Amino acid sequence: MEGLLTRCRALAACSRQLSGSIPRRFHHCAPGRGKRLVLSRMFQPQNLREDQVPSLEGGSGDLTCKSQRLMLQVGLIHPASPGCYHLLPYTVRALEKLVRVIDQEMRAIGGQKVSMPSLSPAELWRATNRWDLMGKELLRLRDRHGKEYCLGPTHEEAVTALVASQKTLSYKQLPFLLYQVTRKFRDEPRPRFGLLRGREFYMKDMYTFDSSPEAARQTYGLVCDAYSSLFARLGLPCVKVQAGVGSIGGTMSHEFQLPADVGEDQFAVCPSCSFSANVETLNLSQTNCPACQGPLTETKGIEVGHTFYLGTKYSSVFNAQFTNVHGKPSLAEMGCYGLGVTRILAAAIEVLSTEYCLRWPGLLAPYQVCLIPPKKGSKEEVATELAGHLYDHITEAVPQLRGEVLLDDRTHLTIGNRLKDANKFGYPFVIIAGKRALEAPAHYEVWCQNTGEVVFLTKEGVVGLLSQVQVV
Ligand code: ATP
Ligand code: MG
Repeated sequence: MEGLLTRCRALAACSRQLSGSIPRRFHHCAPGRGKRLVLSRMFQPQNLREDQVPSLEGGSGDLTCKSQRLMLQVGLIHPASPGCYHLLPYTVRALEKLVRVIDQEMRAIGGQKVSMPSLSPAELWRATNRWDLMGKELLRLRDRHGKEYCLGPTHEEAVTALVASQKTLSYKQLPFLLYQVTRKFRDEPRPRFGLLRGREFYMKDMYTFDSSPEAARQTYGLVCDAYSSLFARLGLPCVKVQAGVGSIGGTMSHEFQLPADVGEDQFAVCPSCSFSANVETLNLSQTNCPACQGPLTETKGIEVGHTFYLGTKYSSVFNAQFTNVHGKPSLAEMGCYGLGVTRILAAAIEVLSTEYCLRWPGLLAPYQVCLIPPKKGSKEEVATELAGHLYDHITEAVPQLRGEVLLDDRTHLTIGNRLKDANKFGYPFVIIAGKRALEAPAHYEVWCQNTGEVVFLTKEGVVGLLSQVQVV
């Protein structure tokens, strides 16, 4: 138990939870029992049999990776069209948590949140020549007046035009770090792997405006550090690697890669120094580290983030200027920074889950606790009321867990069957009111699914353990 508590405390410290949890409201009321979240009233379609999993991208019907299979099986996502998914309630809860963590990290470095339209006028894209350069990836459409648009795959053009429209900017106001979390649209040639590569997905994109190249490089470092801090809080071992600039352009770029077998990128790391790079940036024949000449190791990764130092590539096109210290107009030095929000969620599930059971980064789990009362008609049935009291006690004594505790009221099922489901869903804590709930004092079986430990605790012990849980 002591070991468990120490580990939980260490986890708590590691995820560096910021203060001020948002008050939440219960979604469902169990009749006559006050406000409790009950599983039987959740919209949570389960397709636990693999042959019942709905068909997938491109209609191939092939299950292509673990996260996609698990997310379909437990009803986290439902296919709508190739590369497009309905995000179901558990997923939306997890994504909202992810966005809260991202907001904390972006605001900590001075980020200001905006929201730009997805409908993006063609003339912006013609100005940078990307209307042609983006080719078939750009989803294009016309309005009733024949005016052309695309559905934004990224927003360099839009944000630079926005800043350029502010005619009285002074160097004293810079840097600006503007970011948003919005849906992006890309007509990917091969959408696949569920949320890992969609045609419509959530991205966090930040755009920075500085008054000098030196200041812009400093800002670039600041955003990269915020990304590293975000992935550390999520417990994801991401590697920052040198990258190519692709169609976005600029002069310096890094990717944040999460090592995984299904990753579509290949990156090289040098075990003896800190060098790491996407293999696309290396010569084909290069097997040694350019920094220390040691042998390089290659790993597959999922690109979860990408940063670019843009210089004046976009500000010069749209004339995004500010008045410098000498009172003269000067072009803003820019950077742009993307995080694949839906991709991060799927990638986390991909690397943390077992073949059969979902696992979440603790901070992102849709619900922290699943409480399982005894089966109806079983010997332990008298403990049903205790389980209800425990539910109420937890949500009173541990305020951050309000709205985070689910009661599996499907009491026509055995405890074992419900435990199996809870294990599959990956709630960080599963609490069972079984035989030992009849002891004096009552003991509850607690499964700590992210550490694999199982302990028996009294009501006070349960509260002690759960009060360590970080909720964002
Ligand atoms: P990729 O090389 O995987 O196609 P990209 O380099 O084209 O990605 P960026 O333009 O750098 O992507 O976009 C920023 C981030 O958005 C990426 O790092 C990734 O996490 C995410 N992302 C890009 N494309 C997709 C997609 N089709 N589905 C989900 N997330 C995506
Ligand atoms: Mg990229």
